[in-house]
Amino acid sequence: MKFRDYHVHLEQGPYTIEWIKRFMEEGKKRGIAEIGFSEHGHRFVQAKGLYRSPGFRGQWTTGEAVQNIEEYIEIVEKAKSMGFPVKLGIEMDYIPECEAEIRGFLREYPFDYVLGSIHWIGDFGFDNPEMLDEWNSCDVDETYLKYFDILLRAVESGMFDCIAHPDVIKVFGHRAMGDMSRIYELVAKAMKKMGIFAEVNTAGLRKPAGEMYPSPLMMEYFAAYKVPVMINSDAHRPEDVGRDFDKAIDFVKHYGYESEGVSLTQPENRYVFKG
Ligand SMILES: [Zn+2]
Ligand SMILES: [Zn+2]
Repeated sequence: MKFRDYHVHLEQGPYTIEWIKRFMEEGKKRGIAEIGFSEHGHRFVQAKGLYRSPGFRGQWTTGEAVQNIEEYIEIVEKAKSMGFPVKLGIEMDYIPECEAEIRGFLREYPFDYVLGSIHWIGDFGFDNPEMLDEWNSCDVDETYLKYFDILLRAVESGMFDCIAHPDVIKVFGHRAMGDMSRIYELVAKAMKKMGIFAEVNTAGLRKPAGEMYPSPLMMEYFAAYKVPVMINSDAHRPEDVGRDFDKAIDFVKHYGYESEGVSLTQPENRYVFKG
């Protein structure tokens, strides 16, 4: 069986064929036969305005927006033309007040697919190590609810093919005390209705959270509503491509999922509920 990994970041290296090759070579060792690159939207000068805020979000993303998106598209297209099995994706934040402009931005470029992410609750970049102290002064349950409220709106916006790391709010190990079942159910229901994938992202295993995104409880609701899932690594370096896919496959199978199985010769990362 060959796999594909559709959540891979090139950002720690240059936009060159050599750098892309490193990801392909490392992936190959784990049976990854196709890679989808999904640079963060905030990396691009063209997306700067989509994160605007007079506070920390505006400040931080302005410092990060150093790449020209045309160069990113060009290098991935070049790799394609050389016969590399790659796709052009993007990991785009959903910022509620900028929805219309984000939609316009996504339409402007020839992405093969779009991962939707929540990394910001207003100016609180909750997964940013620079903001870790902020967690000490906030109510964890309330923060979870705010996060999932934005996530629900992202799902309903219809702009995304897949919601990345659906419970990344737990990244540093902060756990809600209250029962989140109701909100997980709403999210699963909305995803099913909109026909979008939930990501099973193995990066959580490499973070203080210590488990994949989503949690077992959230996964139960995805299974109950038959939400299709997509297994990805969220690699930021070549060595992480396809990492822990074996664990992720066992995880989704445990909930009654099986490979979409379009063809045994095609690389796969999509799993559907078969009960
Ligand atoms: Zn992310
Ligand atoms: Zn990512």
